[in-house]
Amino acid sequence: MCNGEFETSWHLFVDCKISKELWRAVDFNFITSSTCSFTHWFTINMPHLSLTHLGLFITICWEIWRQRNDKIWNNKNILPAIATLNKARTFLDDWKMARDNPPGSTTSRDQEEGKWSKPQQGFLKLNVDATIDMANSKMGVGCVVRDED
Ligand SMILES: [Zn+2]
Repeated sequence: MCNGEFETSWHLFVDCKISKELWRAVDFNFITSSTCSFTHWFTINMPHLSLTHLGLFITICWEIWRQRNDKIWNNKNILPAIATLNKARTFLDDWKMARDNPPGSTTSRDQEEGKWSKPQQGFLKLNVDATIDMANSKMGVGCVVRDED
């Protein structure tokens, strides 16, 4: 994302100066990981976050990933930390609003379409799905993080 270092999930989400600025801005009091492993960092910090903070935490990770892809594939600039944070908060608020007011006109995707497989040991799998109700200008986003168990 910063072009400064070889990109690993550790660098992208934790160690990159851009990500560090974001995490400083939200002030979650993260526990420092003893390894340079995003999975380890995520696993030790997740249980200490309130449900509200956990939602924002995951949304910020999602926004980092989205902006990283937008930079690589669409040559877009990375937003300043405060703008990214506002974007993540707005996204989360929209999701909560959509969750509390589920649109009636959407259909859920066929559950049998793709069979889920668990991640290999030492990895976390993040599944995200979204639905948009254009007629009522509403959207819903959900995510699940799972380990090999
Ligand atoms: Zn970086």
